[in-house]
Amino acid sequence: MSYESEMLKKFRMPSRKEVERALLITLFKHNGVIKEFAKGEEIVNEIADDFGLNENQRSVVLERIYHKENRIVKTPLWHRLLYRSADFLAKGKLVSRPTSTILLTGTKEWMLTENGFDKALKLLQIPKAQKEFLPIKSYEVQKIVKKLSEAERPENYNPFDKGKKIVKITRESALRTRGFRQSIIEGYDYKCAFCGMKINSPDSLLWEVEAAHIVPHSSNGKDDIWNGLALCHLHHWAFDVGWFTLQNDFTIQVSPEINSIPADFGRMGDYDFIRIFSNKTSKAFLPKRKESYPHRNAIIWHRENRFHK
Ligand SMILES: [Zn+2]
Repeated sequence: MSYESEMLKKFRMPSRKEVERALLITLFKHNGVIKEFAKGEEIVNEIADDFGLNENQRSVVLERIYHKENRIVKTPLWHRLLYRSADFLAKGKLVSRPTSTILLTGTKEWMLTENGFDKALKLLQIPKAQKEFLPIKSYEVQKIVKKLSEAERPENYNPFDKGKKIVKITRESALRTRGFRQSIIEGYDYKCAFCGMKINSPDSLLWEVEAAHIVPHSSNGKDDIWNGLALCHLHHWAFDVGWFTLQNDFTIQVSPEINSIPADFGRMGDYDFIRIFSNKTSKAFLPKRKESYPHRNAIIWHRENRFHK
């Protein structure tokens, strides 16, 4: 038995398999990403808490002689166990390694893959049909997010997907849909482009804001950042039914129909979620990156086809 296995046994540490399962569940709870263990003390402690590890188990160190430099390296046994377990998950393609994730997100972190996401759902007994609605990051989806949010803005953008015949939802189109959502809500900093509303669920897993299509799927609208807006539930609904549209300079325009509905419509206490924009000077909140702004070709379509003039 190796020195390390002896130590694991002596301190009655959890098995690698148990830690692998705990890691998948922890990743799920943290939207699909956790920091690498050397710098992620909070995560290291959180998983230790889940196992109810005592002080000795948390602090015991392995001393190994590092031959190249002829010095002794001290590694906490718990960190080492976490690392080994995550490394196994990476070998099984259930997570991406910090060295790969950094190329995508700029941060050294472990991230679930689509397979890892599926495995976590199974462990938590969550139906796979829920996957589409959960904002869990996966390596494959973040790849699409990166592509969508860094794409070069076309001068003359066509927001319609001409060849689109949705017969069945393929794995690829499901990934693309999740990538679209993620890139929009991240791009708009999780805020409604109209009212600025920003709120998540108490477990920080779900954002209230939605990724709205300007040209909707039903009219063959594309899943591109130039055809999207982040909107709260209320303003998403109001935008889709034509209460609002945008001018080419992103001024919010309200349908004149607003003058012919009862005064108590569209109110939440003192807040009036449509009339508040009637002054013709409010501009939509937009992403930091200008290249990600909605494209005028999509906006013009919305003005001509959805907005009630
Ligand atoms: Zn809103």
